[in-house]
Amino acid sequence: MKNVQLYDKSFKPYMSYEEIQKAIDAVAEKINIDLKDEHTPIFLGVLTGSFMFFGDLMKRITLECETCFIRLASYEGTSSTGQVKQMLGLTQSVKDRNIVVVEDIVDTGGTITELYKILNENGAKSIRTATLMYKPGSYKGSIKIDYPACSIPNDFIVGFGLDYDQIGRNLKDIYVLDPEETEKRKAINVR
Ligand code: 5GP
Ligand code: MG
Repeated sequence: MKNVQLYDKSFKPYMSYEEIQKAIDAVAEKINIDLKDEHTPIFLGVLTGSFMFFGDLMKRITLECETCFIRLASYEGTSSTGQVKQMLGLTQSVKDRNIVVVEDIVDTGGTITELYKILNENGAKSIRTATLMYKPGSYKGSIKIDYPACSIPNDFIVGFGLDYDQIGRNLKDIYVLDPEETEKRKAINVR
């Protein structure tokens, strides 16, 4: 696999589609077992980044369940702004319901902490979290991340739903920022 260029940055291959699918298999299996006796859980996808993971995860969920989405945002460019905005609120009642939050990536934990607050305020019965990617080194939250498909270092990744300034979400594999190649290409462009 080759590097991909997104705007001013170069990204190198990090995880293939096949590896991602295997990681999702494992998470789905755990969820199917853990929630088998819970009443019709709601799988709540956090837009926009989770859309690919959400689709692939849900195809493997064999439980009777509902699905819905919420939109929160805390990132601008490649670093967290530290502030979480609620762009599209809950469209469905979560009162007395078992919720499985489906995230693309848990980084500092700001988003997930805010989301748990919203869900608790709205009377959720139980909340669990499944995330495609988890950065334990950067996580500052106190909420347990129940189902991390992959744990990764504190690097900036794109693809499989994850963006760099809104582009790159459609890449089927996951890529990581390549600082050396980014510098090299910049130098070529200048000349
Ligand atoms: P947190 O609130 O946990 O710091 O960040 C969560 C959100 O930040 C994620 O849902 C995602 O939108 C964004 N984010 C965090 N790390 C990365 C990353 O490595 N790549 C991309 N594309 N987005 C990230
Ligand atoms: Mg997100």
